[in-house]
Amino acid sequence: MIKTREDIFEHNREWAEQQLQNDPHFFDNLAASQNPDYLYIGCSDSRVTAEEMMGMQPGDVFVHRNIANMVNPLDINAASVVGYAVDYLRVKHIVVCGHYNCGGIKAAMQPRDYGALNPWLRNVRDIYRLHREELDAIEDETARYDRLVEINVQEQCVNIIKMAEVQKRYIHEHYPTVHGWVFDIRTGRLKDLQIDFEQILHNIQKIYDLTDGQWEVSVPR
Ligand SMILES: [Zn+2]
Repeated sequence: MIKTREDIFEHNREWAEQQLQNDPHFFDNLAASQNPDYLYIGCSDSRVTAEEMMGMQPGDVFVHRNIANMVNPLDINAASVVGYAVDYLRVKHIVVCGHYNCGGIKAAMQPRDYGALNPWLRNVRDIYRLHREELDAIEDETARYDRLVEINVQEQCVNIIKMAEVQKRYIHEHYPTVHGWVFDIRTGRLKDLQIDFEQILHNIQKIYDLTDGQWEVSVPR
């Protein structure tokens, strides 16, 4: 296990040498440009490493992480990341990936003062309130906690679909598509929540259409 800063630099030297042994042009190609197909929005949790669990290499995925993988419309950081990924990198897929045992989600489930974290956690608490009926019907606390992790991912996917850049790119190019995943920290497996992008687009179109009526989503099912 890497423990000291010296260890980190030693590991980095070995890693860079290994990459060059595998491909002498590896860093030349990296330095030239990036052309990732994926934008990944995940939790800052140290146990959930975006590239490693997906088997991605440098250059494969544009990454944004924060506590509880939120996409809040007032967060200029997340908005800039999504805007840049969609308008300039032209990513084909946007993934919101939550994880079970998420400290941010757990904290939001406790009616308690968390100081500077309160405004951030309130976004999750608002989601709890929106889905209170379903969540409160789940008696087992761990199952309820797991379900809030999933619902939070779903709501963040909806937040992405509400964004003008995403809608406009999608109606012109039919991408990006938005995916909701959960990393099960207890098994190491990724779970696809099978979020129905077209259906969500259709359901929220009346309220959130920012495309001057150009947005025509296929017939509801
Ligand atoms: Zn987390």
